[in-house]
Amino acid sequence: MKKQIYMDNAATTKLDKRVLDEMLPYLTEQYGNPSSTYSLGVASKKAIDDARGVISEIINSHPGELYFTSGGSESDNWAIKGVAYANRKKGNHIITTKVEHHAVLHTCEYLEKNGFEVTYLDVDEDGIIDINDLKEAIREETILITIMYANNEVGSIMPIKEIGDIAREKNILFHTDAVQVMGVIEIDVEQLNIDLLSMSAHKFKGPKGIGALYIKRGVKIDPLIIGGGQERSRRAGTENIASIVGMSKALTLAYENLDEKNKNLIQLRDYFIQEIMTKIDYTKLNGHPVNRLPNNVNISFSFIEGESLLLFLDIKGIAASSGSACTSGTLDPSHVLLSMGLNHETAHGSLRLSLSEENTKEDIDYVVENLVEIVDKLRQMSPLYENVKEEI
Ligand SMILES: *Cc1c(COP(=O)(O)O)cnc(C)c1O
Repeated sequence: MKKQIYMDNAATTKLDKRVLDEMLPYLTEQYGNPSSTYSLGVASKKAIDDARGVISEIINSHPGELYFTSGGSESDNWAIKGVAYANRKKGNHIITTKVEHHAVLHTCEYLEKNGFEVTYLDVDEDGIIDINDLKEAIREETILITIMYANNEVGSIMPIKEIGDIAREKNILFHTDAVQVMGVIEIDVEQLNIDLLSMSAHKFKGPKGIGALYIKRGVKIDPLIIGGGQERSRRAGTENIASIVGMSKALTLAYENLDEKNKNLIQLRDYFIQEIMTKIDYTKLNGHPVNRLPNNVNISFSFIEGESLLLFLDIKGIAASSGSACTSGTLDPSHVLLSMGLNHETAHGSLRLSLSEENTKEDIDYVVENLVEIVDKLRQMSPLYENVKEEI
């Protein structure tokens, strides 16, 4: 079989076999409707309640504060639209950042078309907001602050505790997209003053299409999906039992031996970064050097296109991601990298390699070896690179 090295874990992860085993009965024999009163249904309901208990405890909340959704995008949509519409009488102003996931950014843009005002905070060259900018952006009408816990492209971690403290002090609701952080960093919603938190199972080796939104008791929020009385009438639709059970198992596994796993990942990550930057000229590390997710490597290679890099890496069996998003057939450079001050060329030449515990030092050596060759080959074809060489 062809060598396959998967380094796109920030996009999605491989389902853990132990998670699948836990899910299978709920896709076969244990199929009862949780809203029914016969035994088959009651057992399904119990499975959901158990999962809710496990996940809510992990973030130090109560089971009644956790709502299952179809994933990160739905949770972000629900948190932002739900809070905006339910608190409209109080105010119409929302604060977010320029580097959020599109599930947050595009939801905010949608609300702008519907009578809300949104402040998009700048970030510094490491992708982190300035707390003073947040303080200055707060108005009488501010009803929601939505800021991601850690960035999915460059891995930079936001000052969540400070943001939560400010939100609480000013009596403004605080939502965080924690999709990249669940299963990676311990989260205590009480201690961090988080009112709403989005998570998604497929980012931590759970199944795709399942996530959750934590909503602190007392938060005013409209439903996004209206219908039956599931999820205490706040999120309709027959529950995705197997996936809910899988999400709970995956999260439990993710937090097992967390310190040791993170220590190994950080070691691998830093070795990876150092190897690339010493062996290849004209590179730049994107994101905060230390205050970043343990598995995130994001590097710009001058004079080449990330998309071409990806094609050649794929031939070698390496899966990664670039700093451009293919939207409607055109290549847009990443809004995150542009917000961090990169020019279009540098943003286009960036590569994200996101690791998992399955990656080894040998994998990294293999990738670096191939990167050296591919970057060299692409640069030989690049007119921009020719100009630079002539100047030297
Ligand atoms: C992946 C991701 C999402 C979207 O989650 P889905 O479950 O794929 O809808 C939202 N926010 C961040 C930060 C992500 O990385």
